[in-house]
Amino acid sequence: MKVAREIQERLLALQQLDSDLIQIEHKAVNLPSAKQFDEVTKELASKRDLLVAANTERDDIKHELTRAENDVEQVVTRIDRDEKRLASGQGAPKDLEKIQHELGSLAKRRTELEEVELEIMVRIEGVDSRVKVLEGQCRALEEQSNELKLKRDAEISELESIKKNTSESRSKLASIIDSELLALYEKIRVNSDGVGAAKLEANQCLGCHLTMNSAELVRVKSLPDDEIVRCEECRRILIRLD
Ligand SMILES: [Zn+2]
Repeated sequence: MKVAREIQERLLALQQLDSDLIQIEHKAVNLPSAKQFDEVTKELASKRDLLVAANTERDDIKHELTRAENDVEQVVTRIDRDEKRLASGQGAPKDLEKIQHELGSLAKRRTELEEVELEIMVRIEGVDSRVKVLEGQCRALEEQSNELKLKRDAEISELESIKKNTSESRSKLASIIDSELLALYEKIRVNSDGVGAAKLEANQCLGCHLTMNSAELVRVKSLPDDEIVRCEECRRILIRLD
């Protein structure tokens, strides 16, 4: 293939733009802010789950408290009733004795039930403070997540605008390169880590960084200017600049 040297040289600028595009793509998929956003979002979801569980636990304990309060109330009602009966002095002495005995057991039962009630209240306090801590953590994570989302979106849109400009420059440049040469460059680029054309600097191919022997170098240098030269090692298009 024969293409004027100045057009061959355009491949180097095209190569630079293509490498830039690869780098932009790499940056876009590896944004630290996106990674941080994902991590914070995950942490927030797990804290929210814990908060839901803590609230459910609190509701359950509150039901337990209501039951315990009812139990105490029932005993208190019976105590009141028995005390009134005793105070009235009505009934056979045997019955009154029975009531007195019952009052003793009821007082004991009341103390036990009030202890249960107190224990439940202590448990509610524990869950309450856990809920408060989790709510604070969720708020802080939400704030962090919002900030990171803004940061990530701004960075993505900046990269997109750079990518758009680079792509436009690339299209313009590609349109003034010989189509056969361009097709060859594209074919090599796909199979050679995105690099289709490289400079020949002294005796080194800057595509694979291998050096050519002096006989090969003499042969390459003696070829006409418009001859397309390929690296013997990596098969990339070699651009001679001297
Ligand atoms: Zn090479």
